[in-house]
Amino acid sequence: MRISIVGSGYVGLVAGTCFADSGNRVQCIDIDAKKIKQLNEGKVPIYEPGLEELIARNTGEGRLTFTTKLAEAVKTSEVVFIAVGTPPGENGEADLQHVLGAAREIGKAIEQYTVVVDKSTVPVGTAEKVRAEIAKVTQVPFDVVSNPEFLKEGAAIDDFVRPDRVVIGADSERARQVMGELYAPFVRTENPIFMMDTKSAELTKYAANAMLAVRISFMNDIASLCEKVGADVDLVRKGVGSDKRIGFPFLFPGVGYGGSCFPKDVKALITTARDHGLEYEMLRAVERVNERQKKLLVNKAVKHYGTLEGKRFAVWGLAFKPKTDDMREAPSIEVIEGLTGKGAQVTATDPVSREIAEKIFGNRVKLVSDPYEALDGADGLFVVTEWNEFRQPDFERMKKLMRQPIIFDGRNIYDPKKARERGFTIYSIGRPS
Ligand code: NAD
Repeated sequence: MRISIVGSGYVGLVAGTCFADSGNRVQCIDIDAKKIKQLNEGKVPIYEPGLEELIARNTGEGRLTFTTKLAEAVKTSEVVFIAVGTPPGENGEADLQHVLGAAREIGKAIEQYTVVVDKSTVPVGTAEKVRAEIAKVTQVPFDVVSNPEFLKEGAAIDDFVRPDRVVIGADSERARQVMGELYAPFVRTENPIFMMDTKSAELTKYAANAMLAVRISFMNDIASLCEKVGADVDLVRKGVGSDKRIGFPFLFPGVGYGGSCFPKDVKALITTARDHGLEYEMLRAVERVNERQKKLLVNKAVKHYGTLEGKRFAVWGLAFKPKTDDMREAPSIEVIEGLTGKGAQVTATDPVSREIAEKIFGNRVKLVSDPYEALDGADGLFVVTEWNEFRQPDFERMKKLMRQPIIFDGRNIYDPKKARERGFTIYSIGRPS
């Protein structure tokens, strides 16, 4: 099939590359000329494991190309995906200007029957709006499909080619057939394609993300109680997660959820519910717990040191989670702003996010590539992202480098008992310190 993807970010680039890899001819489009230039030079503008190699293979074999020229790409495509950003607007609602802008351009460009697919995460009713926007500018037949994306940054390719399920909201049989054919290579095992109406598909995505955010905030609340009563949240987590009705994923307490999806999607769902006369008390509490959680490590530090004025801290981990360079809404930002705002100096490190961090912090934070260099003369270490490379450090070397051997483990990656035996004071989330 000939496919265009409008928006070549984390989702568009991965989806486009995987569709090309299954034999389609894919053109990835972006308005960001710099991004397209980079891609055409073989440089991948985001960090996602395995993506660079897959892009190289598919561009090399002529199935995958990159362009800023939307009209040229779209007019020869049978399926056009919209994978542009949907950031939060002023009142928490999803801002649809990029989606509807893309829809208009697609409408002007199509010359034959085309399936236009919303892959961006969009509120219930957006497929209707996209349809109306396109219909304003064309007489050419088309269908609008909702096909929300469930990939996780850091494991995006695997999630895309082996999805738990594919959700397709389509109101026409012709569009359902095209989508079924396109996804057939990715659902060859037990994983189902759920065909549904567009509204149910749109809501499925928000419900899934909100449910995951609920689990995280719930466990963070349990962790806070563990600290008060002297229980160990790690043991509670094991005891709870082994109940098959509950399961283990997303039960890890920490410094709060971040990233480009959970915060904005929880907000957008609250706003949609409110627009329909429903107050989502539970999700508002989920947001409040998350805000509190992002401040937890700095509060623990203030309690320990009294004042942070003049202190030097190392921060390990900037990305909102491991195996991505994405720092949108990353808890590290809140931690670093909290520390520097209280007069401390911060030296931070991350395996892949330093360039992005430079843009966020400027010269307010020193960024280094070696985790041990960050520890030189530090009064404490804050572990904010659970990258594998931080899990088994050389504690002896750390102790020699640090002015005070104190760890604030925001992801519970160290065994507190072992850390104490090695001479460290350690604070973690929901475990006895
Ligand atoms: P992103 O910001 O990484 O990428 C969006 C891209 O769209 C940018 O490169 C931007 O320049 C481009 N763009 C904007 N307007 C355009 C236009 N009119 N024409 C062409 N290009 C345009 O965003 P993302 O993280 O890939 O997310 C895209 C959508 O997918 C969002 O709705 C998001 O909620 C959803 N989603 C994201 C993830 C994730 O893990 N990142 C997972 C599932 C769903």
